[in-house]
Amino acid sequence: MSRGISYITGSQLLSLRRLPNIAIIDVRDDERSFDGHIAGSLHYASDTFTDRISNLIQEVKGKDTLVFHCALSQVRGPTCARRLANYLEEVKEDGGIKNIMVLERGFNGWEAAGRPVCRCTGIPCKDESA
Ligand SMILES: [Zn+2]
Repeated sequence: MSRGISYITGSQLLSLRRLPNIAIIDVRDDERSFDGHIAGSLHYASDTFTDRISNLIQEVKGKDTLVFHCALSQVRGPTCARRLANYLEEVKEDGGIKNIMVLERGFNGWEAAGRPVCRCTGIPCKDESA
């Protein structure tokens, strides 16, 4: 059985992102340091994503919905979402993760729509934007 990956729009995510069951996973690479990020998002760069996948699963314990994005959510975001879905299938364990989603239009679309961007340099994000 294959897990589906669905898409979420920026406006949907804007209203849902503060829910405690949602984790936002930013898989951009170096751009995160320069371009800001969605407040509270976790950073798992696409180039090391596969190696860190078990860390990710630990870090999102208790969240049932993961929203992936990269700059445009055309390549890296969906690819990493798919890798996670495949990994969960292989290990036959879902870690409580029910929904794997991709943010439509990615971070660039989020920012272009005037949605809030956090520019903290904290790891993890200090979530300084409102
Ligand atoms: Zn931040």
